[in-house]
Amino acid sequence: MVRQDPIQQISNAADRIKMVHEMLTPMNQKAPTRTFFIGGNFKSNLNKDSLKELVPVIAKHQTAADVVIAPPALYLLEAQSIVEANNSKVKVAAQNISGKSLGAYTGEIAAEHVLDAGIEWTLLGHSERRSIYCESDEVVAAKTVDALQKGLSVILCCGETEHQRFVENRTKEVVTGQLGAVHKALEAANLVDKWSKIVIAYEPVWAIGTGKTASTQQAQDTHLEIRNWLTTISQSVADATRILYGGSVSAANSDELAKQADIDGFLVGGASLSAQKFLPIIDSAKYSQ
Ligand code: PEP
Repeated sequence: MVRQDPIQQISNAADRIKMVHEMLTPMNQKAPTRTFFIGGNFKSNLNKDSLKELVPVIAKHQTAADVVIAPPALYLLEAQSIVEANNSKVKVAAQNISGKSLGAYTGEIAAEHVLDAGIEWTLLGHSERRSIYCESDEVVAAKTVDALQKGLSVILCCGETEHQRFVENRTKEVVTGQLGAVHKALEAANLVDKWSKIVIAYEPVWAIGTGKTASTQQAQDTHLEIRNWLTTISQSVADATRILYGGSVSAANSDELAKQADIDGFLVGGASLSAQKFLPIIDSAKYSQ
């Protein structure tokens, strides 16, 4: 009989233990506390009539997922009254806040206004605000602190440009830098416990409104990097924080994306403007485990 070298025996045993562990561990299992979350970002679209047609359909749609819609600021009150009239679980979000208090800030909407309208959420740090309106990581962080201090929950967007991912290979550094600026501001304001009021939306800039979606693997890999970064805050923040994917999400890709272990929902732009396109994306929540 050929005697096996003891090192080889240990390594074979380790392989067998790993195999049994993988068989017993269900793939893609998500923390049950991370309810699937779908945001609809209407951006600067729709009008009074189309909003009044679309929002009731979304409000009446049955789903176990958390659904939050962000209409243009002028229609926040209208959208809020439609979801209330329908006794809907759907929530409304502002697309932005000033980050200032009430006062001499012409053209701006403060967190106080949003809360006064009965609205609980705001988007912050969307790439269009970062690139077109020059909002730096620090401005986004200051707005996040303001929103949380005043009692709003935040859908916090982050994401790299095409050049940063494909030329510079800096996706992780860019995304964790954007999130790190927020964490630093939360620490300074003694608000680290408010991570529980933040949902992260990872939105590669090159995939927003372009029809180019990150592949399922690219999205899952970056979500995992974000979740690993969250463990530097604490394991419980990493386990509880929902990380949404955004960037040309459609009914054609949402089911596969929803199955990924670290994808806890979507932030949807273009497809949220049509009930026919948006509702099937909401329904992909059933593929999340
Ligand atoms: C967005 O604006 O947040 C977004 C993801 O847009 P789209 O779905 O159109 O790519």
